[in-house]
Amino acid sequence: MASQAQHTDYDLLVVGGGINGCGIARDAAGRGYSVCLAEMNDLASGTSSWSTKLIHGGLRYLEFYEFRLVREALSERELLWSIAPHIIRPLRFVLPHSKGLRPRWLLRLGLFLYDHLGGRKLLPATRTLDLRKDPTGEPLKPGFSTAFEYSDCWVDDARLVALNARDAADRGAEINTRTQVVAARREGDIWHATLRDTDTGATRDVTARLMVNAAGPWVDRLLESALKRNDARNVRLVQGSHIVVRKLFDHDRAYIFQNADGRIVFAIPYERDFTLIGTTDRDYEGDPADVAATEEEILYLASAASEYFKTPIKRDDVVWTYSGVRPLFDDGASKAQEATRDYVLKLDTGAGGADHAPLVNIFGGKITTYRRLAFSVLEQVESVLGAMGKPWTRAAPLPGGDFPTTGFEDLVRDLQTAHPDLAAGLVHRLARNYGTRARAILEGARTTEDLGRHFGADLYEREVAYLMDQEWARSAEDVLWRRSKLGLHLSQNQADALGQWMRDRYSETTSSRDTRRA
Ligand SMILES: Cc1cc2nc3c(=O)[nH]c(=O)nc-3n(C[C@H](O)[C@H](O)[C@H](O)COP(=O)(O)OP(=O)(O)OC[C@H]3O[C@@H](n4cnc5c(N)ncnc54)[C@H](O)[C@@H]3O)c2cc1C
Repeated sequence: MASQAQHTDYDLLVVGGGINGCGIARDAAGRGYSVCLAEMNDLASGTSSWSTKLIHGGLRYLEFYEFRLVREALSERELLWSIAPHIIRPLRFVLPHSKGLRPRWLLRLGLFLYDHLGGRKLLPATRTLDLRKDPTGEPLKPGFSTAFEYSDCWVDDARLVALNARDAADRGAEINTRTQVVAARREGDIWHATLRDTDTGATRDVTARLMVNAAGPWVDRLLESALKRNDARNVRLVQGSHIVVRKLFDHDRAYIFQNADGRIVFAIPYERDFTLIGTTDRDYEGDPADVAATEEEILYLASAASEYFKTPIKRDDVVWTYSGVRPLFDDGASKAQEATRDYVLKLDTGAGGADHAPLVNIFGGKITTYRRLAFSVLEQVESVLGAMGKPWTRAAPLPGGDFPTTGFEDLVRDLQTAHPDLAAGLVHRLARNYGTRARAILEGARTTEDLGRHFGADLYEREVAYLMDQEWARSAEDVLWRRSKLGLHLSQNQADALGQWMRDRYSETTSSRDTRRA
C-alpha cells in the first residue's frame, strides 16, 4: 500500500497529455493511485499527433546498434495490436533495392534480425519481391527489379492518446485538458502546483505526492518556467515533417525508400485517398508550438520520393503538410538523425535538502514504446511512494479494443448487419476509430437521419457529441485533425459551422451543469 503520511489531493500529478503522459496516467490509475493529468492544450496536440504513425522497431536504428530499443519496440508491436486492434493494424513495407546504396546482403541481414529480435507471432515474415511481376513494382521506375517486403504496424497516433486518456479516466484518473501547469514547488515531501485554465485564465492549486514531467518538447521549459530551474538542458529538439499528396498507388502496402544521403523516407497509404510521405530530421531551435514544414523540407521529400516513383511529385501535388518536434534525449550525437530514439527517465528528489518531493522527468521515447515507458515510470513511482496494484497493461484492451486481434473484419460485418442502411464507408470508419464503442454511437440508428446534423463528408452529430462527451474534444480542430483526419475532406465553411455548433453545445452543457449545481 502507498504510505499515507500526509493528505494530498492526488498521489500523482502528470504534466502533459501526449502519449507518454496519458500512458502513465492510465497505468497508475489502474494500479489504484489517484491521478491528476494536466494538458495545456488538447490531448495529443504536441508531438503525439505529428508522427509517421508506425508501431515499429525502427529498421534504421539497427545501423546505430540500438539493439535494446529495437528489440523492445518490436516486442511491443503485436502486444499493442492485440489491445487496440481497431486503431492499430499490420502494414507490409516494400524496400526496393537500389544500386549504389546499401547492398542486398546488408538489407537481408537487417531484415533477418528484424524478423527474429522481437518475438513475432502473427505478423508475416520478410519475403523477396520481383518488382517486374509484383503490383508494387508498377508505380515505380523500371530500374527497380528487386525489393524486400517486411511487417510493421500502423497506428492512429492521436487516437491512441485519447483512448489511453479515456481508459485512465474510466479507472479514476482526472483528465484536465486546456489546463497548464504554471508553477510547482516542493514543500517537504509534497508538491504544490498551480493549474491555469487556458480558456478562462482561472487558476487552482493542487497538491500531489509525486510529479511526472511528461511535457515532451516542453520538458526543459517546464523545468525552467514552472520549477525555476536554470540548468535544464536535456532535450534535443529534432523537427520532422511530412507531406500528403493524392494517392500515388492502388495497393495497400507502404514503401520505404533509401535516400542517397543515408536517410530513409516512407510513402504510406493514407486516409483512403492520399499518400503520406515523410519524414525529415533537422535540429529545431524555436517554440515547439510554432513548428511547420519548411519549403526546403517539402521539396526534399517530394524529390526523395520522385527518385523512385515513375510520376514525379511536384510542389503543386502537395495537399497538406504537417510537422512535429521529437523531444530526443541529448546524447551529444553530431547529426540529428543519429541522436538516440531511446527514452531516459530521471528521478529527481531535490538537492538533498528538506524539500524532497519526487519528480520523474521523461526525455525522448517513441509512440511504440509508450506502454513500456509507463511501466518503467511506475517502477520509479513505486520505489518512492510504495507499491499499489500489480502491472496490468500487457493484456487489458484499450476502449473499443475488446475484440480478437484479427477480428476487425468480423466487427465491421456485425456493425453492418445491425445497420444495413448505413453506408459501408461510414460503418468501416467508425469501426476503425471506435472499435466496439461504435455500437454506442450508432445505437438505434437506421438511416443517417438518425445520426443528427450532418457536418460534411461522413461526419454526423452523434459522433461529434460522443467525442465531446467521452474524449474531451472541444474545437473543430480537435475533431477534424486529431480524433479523426476528416479535415482532409471538409471545406473551411463546413469546419467553421462545426466549430460554432460545438461552441454552442459546450456552453449549453456547461450552463445546464452549473444550474444543476446551484
Ligand atoms: C516527425 C515524427 C515522426 C515520428 N514517427 C514516429 C513513429 O512512426 N513511431 C513512433 O513510435 N514514434 C514516432 N515519433 C516519436 C513520437 O511521436 C514521440 O516520441 C511521442 O509522440 C512523444 O510523446 P510525448 O507524450 O513525450 O510528447 P507530446 O506528445 O509532445 O506531449 C507533451 C504534452 O505536454 C503538454 N505540455 C507541455 N507543457 C505543459 C504544461 N506546462 N502544462 C500542461 N501541459 C503541458 C503539451 O501541450 C503536449 O501535448 C515521431 C516523432 C516525430 C516528430
